[in-house]
Amino acid sequence: MAHIAFIGLGNMGQPMVGNLVQAGHQVTGFDVAAALCDAAGQQGVTIAESTAAAVMDAEIVITMLPAGSHVMAVYGDALPAARPTSLFIDCSTIGVDKARAAHQLARAASMQSIDAPVSGGTSGAKAATLTFMCGGDDDAFRAAKDVLGAMGKRIIHCGPAGSGQAAKLCNNMILGVTMIATAEAFVLAEAIGLSHQALFDVASTSSGQSWSLTSCCPVPGPVPNSPANRNYAPSFAAALMLKDLRLAQEAAAAEQAATPLGAAAAQIYALYSAAGEGSTDFSGIINFLRGVRSAR
Ligand code: NAD
Repeated sequence: MAHIAFIGLGNMGQPMVGNLVQAGHQVTGFDVAAALCDAAGQQGVTIAESTAAAVMDAEIVITMLPAGSHVMAVYGDALPAARPTSLFIDCSTIGVDKARAAHQLARAASMQSIDAPVSGGTSGAKAATLTFMCGGDDDAFRAAKDVLGAMGKRIIHCGPAGSGQAAKLCNNMILGVTMIATAEAFVLAEAIGLSHQALFDVASTSSGQSWSLTSCCPVPGPVPNSPANRNYAPSFAAALMLKDLRLAQEAAAAEQAATPLGAAAAQIYALYSAAGEGSTDFSGIINFLRGVRSAR
């Protein structure tokens, strides 16, 4: 079992540290929010007074932070304080360029590192069924695999440094675009008098099938567990979708890749968030397309 430092004990970090403790790892945690440190302490995590203090004796340092700027700041504090040859695993969703910069910082300090963003959300984090998309060299990936296995079900090596973030951004661009397309189809069906169930029955078994339709159906009824049945209480908040779509657009602009539907999806989710719906589930975009507010 490993001694792990875990920095960032928020919505995702909290259940992830719980699973690491359950698996028998020794976990030292830190978050700038004291209440979150207390909550992690109740799960068996030893709380440190700072990032530097948390990483001092750890073999593995895991970060689960809001954005690239936080990761760079935490790496700045952690790398000089960590044991030589520690393994750094960043599970935050950040831009590909920032992920590569974080790897460079780690390499300059003679540490191993991987980027390992996740999909599966807070429910996957609780159930230890997250998917980890990993970027980094083979040795670092091998060293990370066991500990990631305590928090997730699928652990995929996507390629060199930054490839995990690249996979995450491409996947979530597909998700954002297909959710909008699916919601548009339901709005059109309503306008022309086709029932939700009839569209679902056909599209879910035809070429219109997607995860957005069959797992996160934007209308209540056909998929009983989808957020639409709970007034769009968030499983994956629209603000997080917007963040990921913007990161995809930054990567596309940097590489001059044409992603016109990704760009449109980012703009649509930006409007939805600006309308005050950022904390609504991203499938609530259907109400925006209908021209009504989500009923929460
Ligand atoms: P969150 O805001 O709940 O947690 C992030 C935590 O980092 C906060 O508790 C914050 O206080 C802490 N933090 C910020 N700066 C810090 C610093 N300098 N030192 C120590 N702690 C610091 O966010 P979250 O929902 O847990 O998401 C974390 C990451 O995972 C994000 O990048 C997000 O995009 C990604 N993600 C989230 C979900 C989800 O469903 N919530 C799903 C997939 C990926």
